[in-house]
Amino acid sequence: MSSTVAEGGNQAGDKLAQDRAKLVLILRQAGVRDPRVLKAMERTPREMFVPEGFRRHAYDDTALPIDLGQTISQPLIVAMMTEALEVHDRAKVLEVGTGSGYQAMVLSLLCRRVYTIERIRDLLKQAEARFKALDRHNITTRHGDGYKGWPEQAPFECIMVTAAAPEIPQALIDQLAPGGRLVIPVGMDPVSQRLLKLVKHEDGTITTSELGGVRFVPLLEGTQ
Ligand code: SAH
Repeated sequence: MSSTVAEGGNQAGDKLAQDRAKLVLILRQAGVRDPRVLKAMERTPREMFVPEGFRRHAYDDTALPIDLGQTISQPLIVAMMTEALEVHDRAKVLEVGTGSGYQAMVLSLLCRRVYTIERIRDLLKQAEARFKALDRHNITTRHGDGYKGWPEQAPFECIMVTAAAPEIPQALIDQLAPGGRLVIPVGMDPVSQRLLKLVKHEDGTITTSELGGVRFVPLLEGTQ
């Protein structure tokens, strides 16, 4: 009897692993090239970051609702933003908008440490439980307002914002290390939001490029 249960469990696990591998193929076809990023996407069990009722859609390439009116981003956007950030294994990375914790886990497989800030306490608690269950020991969390960044831990080689701001918060630019990259959706109207990549060069000059249109929930001030 118990072996039947175990087989059933393995079958479900196999199916999820197959779905995950299929998703990686889709990401590759859509232009994600970095093998480290594809590997990190393949190693991250998205089904653990979505509400139970959505588990069978965990590997659809779409955003899905999480609690409190927030969303877990579309896998292609997660992969594109991660690739654009050029994360390396010694990097200190700041994420603003922990949400489900999915993006933070992907980043944690590619760098030394992820610092992630979430303004909604209940969401952060759920994400922390997932990090613990998945043995992610290199993710440090904070309940707070990401507009302010995390000055005590600055500078960061990479900063990713996963909610849309009206403009790039100056505190985040200030907390970027020389040579660092910041990826952020900008624009409050979901129809005209753009994903921007800002590079702070070694000499302190800044260049900004546009990576395409996106749809994120708004970056809000204060905490709840
Ligand atoms: N990265 C997430 C997607 C999160 S959706 C994931 O992988 O699931 C955006 C998140 O940003 C929401 O959880 C929202 O509560 C949070 N957020 C919005 N404004 C914020 C702010 N000023 N500081 C920190 N988090 C913020």
